[in-house]
Amino acid sequence: ATVGILGAGAMGTLFGTRLARAGIPVTLVDVNAQLLQTIREHGVHCETDQGPLHASVQALQAHELTLPPARWLIFTKAAHTQAALQSIAHLIGPGTRLLSLQNGIGHIETLHEFADARQIAVGVTTWPARLLAPGKVSSLGSGKIRFMPRTGQVDAGFQDFCDDLNRAGLHSEIDPEVETAIWEKLAFNAAFNGLCGITRQTVDALASPLGRSLIREVLDEVVTVAAANGIAVDALRIQATVEDALNHHVGHQPSLLQDLLARRPTETDSIHGAVVRAGERHGIDTPMTRTLHRLISMTQQRTP
Ligand code: NAD
Repeated sequence: ATVGILGAGAMGTLFGTRLARAGIPVTLVDVNAQLLQTIREHGVHCETDQGPLHASVQALQAHELTLPPARWLIFTKAAHTQAALQSIAHLIGPGTRLLSLQNGIGHIETLHEFADARQIAVGVTTWPARLLAPGKVSSLGSGKIRFMPRTGQVDAGFQDFCDDLNRAGLHSEIDPEVETAIWEKLAFNAAFNGLCGITRQTVDALASPLGRSLIREVLDEVVTVAAANGIAVDALRIQATVEDALNHHVGHQPSLLQDLLARRPTETDSIHGAVVRAGERHGIDTPMTRTLHRLISMTQQRTP
């Protein structure tokens, strides 16, 4: 069965290429008509460690869809998820499955506006994708997907979805502990996206003693809020990921910094804002994360 991908940007292009290469029909849906035209004419391309991959896929705007896919991957930026789901709302039936692998938290609530718990799954992916040109990405290295249906029960629809992601070589796993993985990635992103965004510096620039102490302050807040929410994140595991990034991601601009520099809306609300709100629900103050959220919100509102 066809997989619909909502958002034909970096991740949509990577997943679309790999799924289509495995023989799984893919429909990319986006609001950018020019991008869709390019994909219809030239297909999707992905540079990988194993060489370039290319595939032909269907690429449409939501209102052009006649045969609604039964499975959807949500790959818009967080700020656009609601509008994107609204545009396909008339295509969501009782058999439809929606999987969000977006960064940040709060996606479940948005998905719930359009579907029942048994139709929704959220997760994380470590697959990287960098947009080179419309319909063309670079995705070096390898990654994994972990997700869990919202009900905690794996039905045939989500099992098939997981199997197809694996057929495409995307290393997918249904993981009852996915909330832990989501919050560990959230902590990492809150620190690196926030601090690199505000300082306009790449990841390795935070390797100084001051950078490390700022990272630690953000991580401590997110870990405390996670624990209050009953999610047992592993601070040592996060620290190991942080060290790896400081040592190996030389010259890397986190996506939030890229968005700020390109004057696009950032995902700060589903990263920092969501941590602040989750803390407030448990009476936990998160001054560092709140300040990052406010500073980034202020910066992205500035007109050129
Ligand atoms: P992107 O900006 O490259 O792509 C988003 C696409 O969504 C764009 O093509 C945009 O035109 C489209 N869009 C906007 N509004 C829409 C609407 N209403 N309907 C349909 N499409 C719409 O973003 P990305 O880098 O692919 O990231 C997508 C998500 O995946 C984000 O949450 C991001 O944090 C997460 N993620 C990204 C990476 C990565 O390496 N790029 C890795 C892991 C997770």
